[in-house]
Amino acid sequence: MSLDYTPPLDDITAVLEQFGLPGIAALADFAHVDAETIPDVLAEAGRFFAETVAPLNVVGDRVGSAHDPETHTVTTPPGFKEAYAQYVEAGWGAVTSSPEYGGGGFPFLVGVVFEEIMSTANLSFGMCPLLSQGATRLLEAHASDDLKAVYMPRMISGEWTGTMCLTEPDAGSDLGVIRTKAEPQADGSYRLSGTKIFITFGEHDLTDQIVHLVLARTPDAPVGTKGISCFVVPKFLVEADGTLGARNDVACLSIEHKMGTNASPTCVLSFGEEGAGATGWLVGELNAGMVAMFTMMNHARIGVAAEGLALAERAWQQARAYAAERLQGRASGTPKGERAPIVEHPDVRRMLLTMESEIQAMRRLIYATAASIDLAEHADDAETRREHEERAALLTPLAKAWSTDTGFEVTSLGVQIHGGMGYVEETGAAQHLRDARIAMIYEGTNGIQAMDLVGRKLGMRGGGVVADHFARIRSDLTAVGDGPLAASRDALAAALAAAEEATAYLAGVTSVDDALAGATPYLHLLSMLTAGHLMLQSAVLAAGTDREAGQQRTTRFFCEQLVPTGTALVPSITAGADALAFV
Ligand SMILES: Cc1cc2nc3c(=O)[nH]c(=O)nc-3n(C[C@H](O)[C@H](O)[C@H](O)COP(=O)(O)OP(=O)(O)OC[C@H]3O[C@@H](n4cnc5c(N)ncnc54)[C@H](O)[C@@H]3O)c2cc1C
Repeated sequence: MSLDYTPPLDDITAVLEQFGLPGIAALADFAHVDAETIPDVLAEAGRFFAETVAPLNVVGDRVGSAHDPETHTVTTPPGFKEAYAQYVEAGWGAVTSSPEYGGGGFPFLVGVVFEEIMSTANLSFGMCPLLSQGATRLLEAHASDDLKAVYMPRMISGEWTGTMCLTEPDAGSDLGVIRTKAEPQADGSYRLSGTKIFITFGEHDLTDQIVHLVLARTPDAPVGTKGISCFVVPKFLVEADGTLGARNDVACLSIEHKMGTNASPTCVLSFGEEGAGATGWLVGELNAGMVAMFTMMNHARIGVAAEGLALAERAWQQARAYAAERLQGRASGTPKGERAPIVEHPDVRRMLLTMESEIQAMRRLIYATAASIDLAEHADDAETRREHEERAALLTPLAKAWSTDTGFEVTSLGVQIHGGMGYVEETGAAQHLRDARIAMIYEGTNGIQAMDLVGRKLGMRGGGVVADHFARIRSDLTAVGDGPLAASRDALAAALAAAEEATAYLAGVTSVDDALAGATPYLHLLSMLTAGHLMLQSAVLAAGTDREAGQQRTTRFFCEQLVPTGTALVPSITAGADALAFV
């Protein structure tokens, strides 16, 4: 039974080239990056996470984080503190952060590889740096220079961690009803009071300081999302000389008992528990907290998309090893009494190939979106920036929702390949499935992603953005000749026709409910078409290389056998809201 993790650097490297990492790293904004070092950096990161962080995955699940209600402290599982210290020491947290504050300033495309590798090694561990990076990204874009000088360098180095405090008992998907209050003080600070729930790494023992970014409402703020502001609220107040001063009034009242990610403490945080309120400072403009959140949302959603991919990869590596070892039944054509490893059975092969090809498809969709985010922010010319901003906006809900839905299905196949041993905890296959489930829920549930796609993204530039996307796919399909990829081309052409039909329906429908009733199957159709197109592109690029046969095998399976399940969704997309009515 293998619980090891081997970073799939071959496929990662091929995908980075496919989505133009060398060109991105050559942009003026990345002049400080030595592109030639990237493969070595990734290999070294892979080694660190596989050797130091991955072995803590099981103990993290079994022991979990623990809360002490007397002291309001949280203890992480054995080994986490030491591994985090090594992570900080090695400087891994700083790879993509701004060089101005001590970061490496690498493209986001490289950052996504880190996120994939870190989450594959240990999702619970990775959630802490992921949240910290989201918080620093927000501070960099919106905080005053004074706040940045205090918080950014030590958050980027990992010496301090960050949280995102949005959710409240009554405010989950609907953040407009947030109640946490922020009272302005004479010295320019604010006093915050209220309760936040589900706050990832809201309290822990990995670092002394935790920097909370909190959404709250000032007195007389407008109702709804237009009255929400963002505040930085540190666990310890920071003295003028940078040392930690008095304890701020933030308390972790409890942590949740969850179905997975047990090592990652999910905290109920009380601000102003002692009465006076927690001291915080405004980040960005008053009442523009949601705008600030949106600036980091695309990056964060791609980070969560990578979590779906990551757990699928871990489950597949383990299932593949198990299928090669477990003897059961006889392979056809072999003598009686000769037992075969289950990998010899066609049904097990089908499961393994489904896992492998979906993992590759997810990786391509996620990395393509990350590359567009880089180009939207850093391309030299305005037209390229605009084009990729639109593309990233369209692809982000696909990457987030489809990769996390598919990631969960892949972990379920991992359990299936283990048979009964998959259902018992000993093999670790069940942990991947339990851990994978959360990614479909947080950072905007997958239902909310589908609404974002249909409600906002389809209408961008009067439908021009999605039309351009389809035109690009059509043009690439036309260039594929009648060789071994012809059947994949034809399957994608059928999916494209279905997507165009569904898009025309959604554009013409007059009832919002009719459109939203088909949003999730539409997101799946569009995702499979897009991911299939990127798989086809990979196969074309692999022609004549030693990757050709392998890439053709997974591309053909994905396009010819899985994409048609997306194509078949048109009736679900166009059925309308009445078909879902309760009787
Ligand atoms: C382990 C964990 C870690 C988390 N970490 C953080 C964190 O660090 N910071 C933070 O702020 N939050 C965090 N969250 C909270 C998370 O972001 C929310 O759980 C999520 O946004 C969904 O909100 P909810 O749970 O209130 O579900 P609800 O909003 O009540 O949704 C329930 C269901 O209804 C659907 N739904 C809701 N509204 C609509 C609508 N208008 N149309 C269609 N369908 C709808 C949803 O898609 C979902 O299926 C975490 C949650 C968990 C479980």
